[in-house]
Amino acid sequence: MKQKIMRFMYGRYGVDQLSRSMMVMVIVLVVLGIFFKTKLIDWASTILLILVYFRMFSKNINKRYQENMKYMVVHNKMMAKYNGWKEAFACRKTHKIFACPGCGQKVRVPRGRGKVKVHCPKCNTSFIKKS
Ligand SMILES: [Zn+2]
Repeated sequence: MKQKIMRFMYGRYGVDQLSRSMMVMVIVLVVLGIFFKTKLIDWASTILLILVYFRMFSKNINKRYQENMKYMVVHNKMMAKYNGWKEAFACRKTHKIFACPGCGQKVRVPRGRGKVKVHCPKCNTSFIKKS
């Protein structure tokens, strides 16, 4: 039986980060479907599940890999943004974060120092802000 499965999966794409995220979304949709009984949620979860299996058993490995890479680019951007917010939230009482008007670089300044001249370490622009 195990060999049959192995033979079946040979040359097929398998599971990646995109498939795992899609599976999590299917589970979330199924749980939501318990509380909100709408056909839309049922259809969305079914279609998503079909897509997960389609990607898993696909023999077009290169195309599936490209899809996963696109997903990972978006995923990493979102995670970087989320981590920035998390950091800003963690130090919100002690520091203030400003964006450099020249390059957009985030600069962290201690709070309660009145008007301060902020110096951007990336592009050497200076600007005055109230801390
Ligand atoms: Zn700058």
